[in-house]
Amino acid sequence: MFIGHFAVALAAKKAAPRTSLGTLVMAAQFADLLWPIFLLLGVERVAIAPGNTAFTPLDFVSYPFSHSLVADVGWASLFAGVYRLVKHDSRGALCLWFVLMSHWVLDALTHRPDLPLYPGSSTYVGLGLWNSRAGTLLVEGAIFALGVVLYVHATRPRDRVGIYAFWSFIVLLVLIYFGNLFGPPPPSVKAIAIAALGLWLFVTWAYWLDRHRQPRSLPGSSPPRP
Ligand SMILES: [Zn+2]
Repeated sequence: MFIGHFAVALAAKKAAPRTSLGTLVMAAQFADLLWPIFLLLGVERVAIAPGNTAFTPLDFVSYPFSHSLVADVGWASLFAGVYRLVKHDSRGALCLWFVLMSHWVLDALTHRPDLPLYPGSSTYVGLGLWNSRAGTLLVEGAIFALGVVLYVHATRPRDRVGIYAFWSFIVLLVLIYFGNLFGPPPPSVKAIAIAALGLWLFVTWAYWLDRHRQPRSLPGSSPPRP
């Protein structure tokens, strides 16, 4: 899943209005942000196998540190704990814990059974929604649309940047999603890892756009300087 994870981050803004969308995206995509780093370090493995599922040519051979259930509980607790320590926002920290864990749950819905319960586990989870292109597009598209609507309802733009930076973020995510779906398989594992590192740019982008939007549930403040 790709845009579905962003949807959770967008939707969570209503529950955690003080938390930047950047932090919410980082939590929702934490497993996929770690993954290319572990690939490059050689501790996790992926193979290019067109037809592995209808939706992706990637075969997730081994990714116990970024994508096992127990590892993600650990990352979620660490992430939420650090946020609580730095921001003194318990509600935001609790939301971030659930947002981070949602990654594993949504991946378990879409992947074929390749998600381990814990590093070293031989039990793999995955309901395989990716076996159906139409099913994936329908479910993930609906989740994403809902996330966008909820974020738009939870915030209002402070200035023009708050409009354009937000909508270009959304449009680019959708373009990348369809590019991956209809484009050729990646040329190499290294190319996958480098492209996946690009996900960090979306975290930065989300921090930037969120500064230009005001949570509707919080008292307003003066707009930031452009
Ligand atoms: Zn993932």
